[in-house]
Amino acid sequence: AVYDRIEEVEDKVGAYVTLDKENALAQAAKVDAMIAAGETIKPLAGIPGAIKDNISTKGLRTTCSSHILDNFIPVYDAHVIANLRKDETIFLGKTNMDEFAMGSTTETSYMKKTHNAWNLDCVPGGSSGGSAAAIAAGEAIWSLGSDTGGSIRQPASFNGVVGIKPTYGRVSRYGCVAFASSLDQIGPITRDVTDAAIVLNTICGVDAHDSTSLPVDVPDFTKALRQDVKGLRIGLPKEYFGEGINAKVKEQIMLAVEKYKELGAEIVEVSLPHTEYAVITYYIIAPAEASANLARYDGVRYGYRNKEAKSAPEMTKLSRTEGFGSEVKRRIMLGTYVLSSGYYDAYYKKAMQVRTLIRKDFDEVFRNVDVLLTPTSPVTAYPLDGKMDPLAIYMLDVTTIPVNMAGLPGISIPCGFADGMPVGLQLIGKALDEETLLRAAYTFE
Ligand code: GLN
Repeated sequence: AVYDRIEEVEDKVGAYVTLDKENALAQAAKVDAMIAAGETIKPLAGIPGAIKDNISTKGLRTTCSSHILDNFIPVYDAHVIANLRKDETIFLGKTNMDEFAMGSTTETSYMKKTHNAWNLDCVPGGSSGGSAAAIAAGEAIWSLGSDTGGSIRQPASFNGVVGIKPTYGRVSRYGCVAFASSLDQIGPITRDVTDAAIVLNTICGVDAHDSTSLPVDVPDFTKALRQDVKGLRIGLPKEYFGEGINAKVKEQIMLAVEKYKELGAEIVEVSLPHTEYAVITYYIIAPAEASANLARYDGVRYGYRNKEAKSAPEMTKLSRTEGFGSEVKRRIMLGTYVLSSGYYDAYYKKAMQVRTLIRKDFDEVFRNVDVLLTPTSPVTAYPLDGKMDPLAIYMLDVTTIPVNMAGLPGISIPCGFADGMPVGLQLIGKALDEETLLRAAYTFE
């Protein structure tokens, strides 16, 4: 049925880079047989999902929507994929994204354009635009995205679906193609909060292949799904409700605040004073890490290779020149610049210090509140015409980036509409307290 739906709408939405129908149907038949034989199956067994194309799937092309990897077939599964496979789930295919997850609109993809499921003339958000549009358009039951500065939550918000970025370290990054390793985190995109909790149950957990994965117990997240926020202290950080926010988006968020009050939550205004530095700090740290991570695409080890070059250095140079798109090149240039010996202290080191201040802001407010409530994005999905200035787009991540900087969990849930387009409500939790996030989200939904 999901493939029928894909058949029907994929031409218009463009969520997928690769479909894997034959294997998916074989897997479905296998689960059918398990059920017929009376075997007990896991909650996700036989449930078809879509995978962002920067998550490694053994034997199935994984491109990061980049020319440099467009023929890359991984020889191993990411930790999250191995976990999902164990549970007998079904992988429908790989979804379109901004090249190497750098972007907010999925337009930097080398592969194709993806359209917003609510209005095909608008961007689906990004970088996990394919994963979010696929859910909104009914082209998958669940999907995986990755979030370095908002790439799960913002496209979820633009498409009116649910997306969670777990606490940094909750989910192994093994097999997630690295963009900015200290910020990247894989998470689910789903229709509702219950589905998100179910997928989270399967993908979380410690993994020896990722030294930053946390050796902590994974609770059954579905147990957190209680409709009850009585006495919950919800903070509204005033910096997230200032100038840049669209008035109609703000209106929807304030209606949600009223709703939480009615349900017995206590609303407290709080301040995260270093918020204004988050985006500029991110655009030092993320490109710095990206420039190091992307050094591996040298035309030798894997991916695209220029065949005309006369020498090895020329081969690497031409392979990278032809293989990377302009946004990726912009980040590599920025990253190598801020890491170069003369500038390291002035930029990278400073940025790391500011990152600590941002994290401390959160530590401070979380002494006093249980969760924070903000808009996921100051705006709704904008036109898919490539007219937005890239720097203006960078600034719109002001609501999501601080959460990655501090390694905290964040969820985006649908919260009404502004001029016909979905608005997303973001809840931010204490480290490893996904349960309170899920509870607050489930109560509102
Ligand atoms: N939009 C941000 C960027 O371009 C975040 C991307 C992401 O989370 N992968 O870097």
